[in-house]
Amino acid sequence: NLSPIPFAVRSTCPYCGVGCGVTATPLPDGAIAIAGDASHAANRGRLCVKGAALGETIGLEGRLLHPAVREDGALRQASWEEAIERVAGGLRAIIDEHGPDAVALYVSGQLLTEDYYVANKLMKGYIGSANIDTNSRLCMSSAVAGHKRAFGADLVPGCYDDFDLADMVVLVGSNTAWCHPILFQRIARLKDARPEVRIVVIDPRRTATCELADLHLPVKPGTDVWLFNGLLSYLAKSGVQDTAFIDAHTNGLAQALDAAQVDCADPLAVARHCRVEPSDLMAFYGGFAATTKVITAFSQGVNQSSAGTDKVNSIINCHLLTGRIGQPGMGPFSITGQPNAMGGREVGGLANMLAAHMDLDNPQHRDTVQTFWSSPRIAEKGGLKAVDLFKAIEAGTVKAVWVIATNPMVSMPDANQVQRALEKCELVVVSDIIASTDTNAFADVLLPALGWGEKDGTVTNSERLISRQRAFLPVPGEARADWRILADVARRMGFDGFDFDSSHAVFDEHARLSVFRNEGARMFNLAGLCGLTAHEYDTLEPVQWPVRRGADGALQGSARLFADRRFAHADGKARFIATAPRAPVNAVDPEYPLVLNTGRVRDQWHTMSRTGRAPRLADHTAEAFIDMHPQDALLYGVREGELARVSSRWGAMVARVQHGGGIARGSVFVPIHWNGQTASDARVGTLVNPAVDPVSGEPEFKHTPVQVERF
Ligand code: SF4
Repeated sequence: NLSPIPFAVRSTCPYCGVGCGVTATPLPDGAIAIAGDASHAANRGRLCVKGAALGETIGLEGRLLHPAVREDGALRQASWEEAIERVAGGLRAIIDEHGPDAVALYVSGQLLTEDYYVANKLMKGYIGSANIDTNSRLCMSSAVAGHKRAFGADLVPGCYDDFDLADMVVLVGSNTAWCHPILFQRIARLKDARPEVRIVVIDPRRTATCELADLHLPVKPGTDVWLFNGLLSYLAKSGVQDTAFIDAHTNGLAQALDAAQVDCADPLAVARHCRVEPSDLMAFYGGFAATTKVITAFSQGVNQSSAGTDKVNSIINCHLLTGRIGQPGMGPFSITGQPNAMGGREVGGLANMLAAHMDLDNPQHRDTVQTFWSSPRIAEKGGLKAVDLFKAIEAGTVKAVWVIATNPMVSMPDANQVQRALEKCELVVVSDIIASTDTNAFADVLLPALGWGEKDGTVTNSERLISRQRAFLPVPGEARADWRILADVARRMGFDGFDFDSSHAVFDEHARLSVFRNEGARMFNLAGLCGLTAHEYDTLEPVQWPVRRGADGALQGSARLFADRRFAHADGKARFIATAPRAPVNAVDPEYPLVLNTGRVRDQWHTMSRTGRAPRLADHTAEAFIDMHPQDALLYGVREGELARVSSRWGAMVARVQHGGGIARGSVFVPIHWNGQTASDARVGTLVNPAVDPVSGEPEFKHTPVQVERF
């Protein structure tokens, strides 16, 4: 009468880009015990409250367990056979009549790399359109574009270990304490161990992250390029540039300095424009100049801007000027928002990318990928980025969209426009784990997907660390892995090349493509991961790409890139980018006098479809809110604890006013998580302006003019 001994399965947290390792132990009573994986390099056994509560979020209540198709206006349960036929036949009919660009996929940084790979293969290599974009467009695309401009490819130079080695950590547009807690704890331990390490936080809000800061620069929203152009100018004048590095390994400094010096040569003028104390600005500039081991880590406050790519490059410029890149304890560092934003980028998850970090606009790269896939065609130009994609759906040029693992009715800017688009779309397919979401309401076909703990594959975190997510739960209902659903549809459309029988088979093809015709020379390559056996894949330990095999057969990852001072541009040199500062697209005016900033709260994730299930996570913040400065509240006639209406030119919502979020006068903050499934529609996306960065296409989530009134 012995109970089975519980066994722990090692997996990876499905939330933020820190990518913490977890152990999940199924218990005899059906519960799952979650703990941090002490052997995982990203977290060494630690978990934040979201990760620790994972076991409370995996029940089947509300799950989508069977395919469904719309008939006479209502969804009814269907067989997989019928649902797959409806999707494949619907896509085929639209493609035959209107061409491949009339259909689109809109996917997610929640997908595993294997799912992402099959989605991109289907769309770019077989349907022959690059109309596949991802919610990573809303998150990291400015970092991707900035990396490509500076380095020649989307390459993150450093690793988390560099934070332990730095003498100065600059956090820009990142509430690390709440959004990447385990990385924040690591920085806190660094500060404990070496109090002389300087921590600088650059953020319009005085967030929880500032508790660790020696210096907080509460910049005026949207002024980061002024700040970093001013720093570039200051560094050049201070004589701390690494001339040997610049001469041998970079191009474009003169143009970048010219652009920087137009408005930003005078620190006093920069301080005035950025609305920071001149003495604080000089403390930052002086500290940066005097510190060799400095990391500038940035996140959504930088990326989610109509000047996001320039912001990224203005930061990278300062590291190139000083040669502080590719060496221990220094460099620019993009903190990714989602668990697999990076893995998606590796397989070309964005509409303007091709698989294995190759470029859609490079004919040789297109030929390489098409030859490897033996595909009938290959997309020849970039596809529609997220905001343009939903505009094209509303305009009727895109007639079918397959939404996978994301909820654009809540998360997109101008979410009312997304509703108009989905209402008009001829065929809306949604793959999800949840039965009822704001987006599912518009589905013609609903496809049940496996969720965390049920699916099996890989993710890549902010530091290029590939980790396994492993299944430890039974398959619920008729749910299938996303890669399998995509392959089922591809085969039904008559396409060869989708005979995958496991996530391992998909991963192996992905790894082999990364070295095809490149023999390991490309900076992104998974040479060491080619030809893994199923057992090796199952037991794969976290490893940072590029990955090689040593003479002893052991996998060798790469903690840092550019240690050899070679970059991915054809000439091997990095590029300074001239970043002329420009204001956010939509300025405040008497009708909409306040700047809306959006972001996360500590204990929720995305649109709450998972974290919303754990009562203890709701304890931190029970409902949506409008955080504003007490004097602004007085000015606009609203009171803390009471409901207020916040409106923009794009929409309106109602939430309770609160103070205490460290907001400066002239701005308000509303969290992104609450959806239209709650008592009141608290989708902040309905307010957010749809302006995008012209290079990356990333929306300006941090700067929408709004009005606040009594409700
Ligand atoms: Fe998960 Fe991020 Fe928390 Fe780590 S820090 S446990 S990855 S949410």
